[in-house]
Amino acid sequence: MNIILFGAPGAGKGTQAKVLIDYLNIIQISTGDMLRDEVKSGSNLGKMAKQIMDKGDLISDEIIMEIIGERIKKPDCKNGFIFDGFPRTLNQAKSLDDLLASKEMKIDNIIEIYVEEDLLLERINKRISENDISRDDDNPEVLKNRIEIYKSDTLPVLNYYKQSNRLNSVNGMQEIDKVSDDIKNIILT
Ligand code: ADP
Repeated sequence: MNIILFGAPGAGKGTQAKVLIDYLNIIQISTGDMLRDEVKSGSNLGKMAKQIMDKGDLISDEIIMEIIGERIKKPDCKNGFIFDGFPRTLNQAKSLDDLLASKEMKIDNIIEIYVEEDLLLERINKRISENDISRDDDNPEVLKNRIEIYKSDTLPVLNYYKQSNRLNSVNGMQEIDKVSDDIKNIILT
């Protein structure tokens, strides 16, 4: 089963992805994690990506599609995967549709985890204050930009899936287990 988890920064995509990979025995494909690994490795791509990520801006669609194209070829994707943090622009969403069609693959479930903006800010600010080693892009200034970019570049993806009747939403402001139950219910129906 192939799934897209959709949600603003701080909505809880990572937390729910972890629950689902165990439950469904599939893997998580987080473009954010993959880019952070590139940064750690010190590769040219990593160096370039770090400058963009530290500002909270988006990596180009070409690079992201290249990374995704290579990743879904790997044998560990056979059982299925969860995209977390991808697609993040309308262009990426359309490219993904083309890419999967060319491989005779498809997304089975597209799930939005919805959280109100005030709560998003509260959650990430809490994450920032509790972590000694927080992410370089987890600071109040950059966070504002990440949320703005979410609204301008990523929300159109949500509308794209809504218009084609492919979108399911869960309330991400409930307890973690309740959110997981709601997602499982969508997946099983
Ligand atoms: P968040 O916690 O804000 O959801 P992620 O961990 O998913 O963030 O991603 C961190 C950063 O990595 C983003 O701010 C962006 O710079 C880059 N990034 C991750 N995924 C993508 C993508 N699909 N397209 C463009 N940039 C991306």
